[in-house]
Amino acid sequence: MTVATASRTADALPILRERGQREVFCGLTGIIWLHRKVQDAFFLVVGSRTCAHLLQSAAGVMIFAEPRFGTAIIEERDLAGLADANEELDKVVRQLLARRPEIKLLFLVGSCPSEVIKLDLGRAAQRLNGSYPGVKILNYSGSGIETTFTQGEDACLAALVPEMHEEPAEQLLVVGALPDVVEDQFRRLFAELGIARVETLPPRRAKDLPGIGPGTRFLLAQPFLGDTARALETRGAVHLPAMFPFGAEGTTAWLHAAAQAFGIDEMHFRAVVAPGRERAKRALAHHAERLAGKSIFFMPDSQLEIPLARFLSAELGMKIIEVGTPYLHRSHLADDLAALPAGVQISEGQDVDKQLDRVRAARPDLTVCGLGLANPLEREGLSTKWAIELVFSPVHGFEQAGDLAELFARPLVRRDKLMV
Ligand code: SF4
Repeated sequence: MTVATASRTADALPILRERGQREVFCGLTGIIWLHRKVQDAFFLVVGSRTCAHLLQSAAGVMIFAEPRFGTAIIEERDLAGLADANEELDKVVRQLLARRPEIKLLFLVGSCPSEVIKLDLGRAAQRLNGSYPGVKILNYSGSGIETTFTQGEDACLAALVPEMHEEPAEQLLVVGALPDVVEDQFRRLFAELGIARVETLPPRRAKDLPGIGPGTRFLLAQPFLGDTARALETRGAVHLPAMFPFGAEGTTAWLHAAAQAFGIDEMHFRAVVAPGRERAKRALAHHAERLAGKSIFFMPDSQLEIPLARFLSAELGMKIIEVGTPYLHRSHLADDLAALPAGVQISEGQDVDKQLDRVRAARPDLTVCGLGLANPLEREGLSTKWAIELVFSPVHGFEQAGDLAELFARPLVRRDKLMV
């Protein structure tokens, strides 16, 4: 068993930087998976009707269950009307918390309409905090200006960091919202390895927000958590660089980084990961028959593009034409970048028309892109995969490796069926 490490620097890779028109969802989208993860949190978007529509159509409105997100709609008003807006916000919060006593963590989520930008939500959170015993009120921005949809999670988790108490003990912190089932699988593996204390950010309940200190070593479960990582480092925690846990190799490398940091014996590590790793490899072999040699083009969207391209090329033999990413965090992605095929085109940012021209010229077997681009490309006879599906589905770890490969194989199967 080999554990891949960065063999060449990301600086050596050719990177195309584009700063043109972009086609991405905004950071409010993160609420869709975050509200399921933190079970006693509520996400109150302070926004416009557009924001409310986005959330309702993206998350689906639960008619019988009370959702744990909502929108306080702030209509157009001038600066003189801001006092009223603050009063209205206080009233909405008061009514909400009176009606929903199970809420222990309330996020005021900013958005991008100009009337909302004028409101100081940080101040509002401070003002409201303390008025409701047992409820923590924080704020972050999910604005669509200069963000991409996964950054909403980054902003949310970064807002939690100052609330973490000082914790001197040695511990492993897994950072990034994972489905509970995946989190439990990783917890079992860490326990088998002998890492006694493992915490997660975000926690499942507000009261379980972990502590932090110089004894904290953290693994990022998602590549889009730059601000959160910076905030954790400011509190003395140490990042464990690793490939992201996609596929057999990525998951092995990710676990290995923790094992090394906690002084776990190498033979013991190999024995613990071997069964899961073998299962993942078997599941991948099945899909590799269909995917090997097929070409793929990533438009920049979720920020998962680099580690997924690494997984698809190194573990399934796919041919990467271009990997677009909204932002390139070189140090967090160093190991995945180093494992990409030499010379692969990486692009950061977007100029959507130019990029679409490159897609049309290359005619890849599969294009990973946002919802807004998928239909037009399908009409041109190109198979697509919605990037957002990769964030909503359980895709991390050994047990999900086959499902992750299947997400890419499915559009190709559908295309083949349509062509028969
Ligand atoms: S935050 Fe901005 S981009 Fe997002 S839904 Fe609201 S208005 Fe649209």
